[in-house]
Amino acid sequence: MPTYCTASEEETIALGERLAHELPRGVVLLIGQLGAGKTTLAKGIVKGFGAAAPEEVSSPTFTLIHEYGQNGRVYHVDLYRLDEPREVATLGLEDLFERDAVVLIEWGERFPELLPRNRTEIRLRALPDDQREIDVYYPNT
Ligand code: ADP
Ligand code: MG
Repeated sequence: MPTYCTASEEETIALGERLAHELPRGVVLLIGQLGAGKTTLAKGIVKGFGAAAPEEVSSPTFTLIHEYGQNGRVYHVDLYRLDEPREVATLGLEDLFERDAVVLIEWGERFPELLPRNRTEIRLRALPDDQREIDVYYPNT
């Protein structure tokens, strides 16, 4: 399990760009408290895929799902505002999971029964002085 430490928003975006090259297709959970840097890391990952510039990436808190790149190579989902599994079930996430795409999900760990077992988990933790500890758990390792 690789562990990284970043000291600024820019470093977290740069880390996301690097991770984009090694992330397997499929679900990538971004796990951490509000403000931990989940959306910031997503910006870097989307940039790393060449799917969009970081300034074009915003939190999908209201729209729930954003699609980036031609033919949707990267999806960014935020389930923060949903409480019930049946609400999540109406989004059609299974359809995204079938695609040859990376599906970044914030707050997805709250609905484990709706997620594929085979998934990457990235855990972010805020430390003092803008530092973030970022752990990447690849599937089946
Ligand atoms: P989340 O999606 O987890 O709620 P965001 O990525 O939206 O978090 O916000 C993270 C906030 O923390 C931003 O305001 C960002 O500028 C700030 N920040 C400070 N240091 C870092 C860092 N090392 N990595 C990421 N964000 C950082
Ligand atoms: Mg966010």
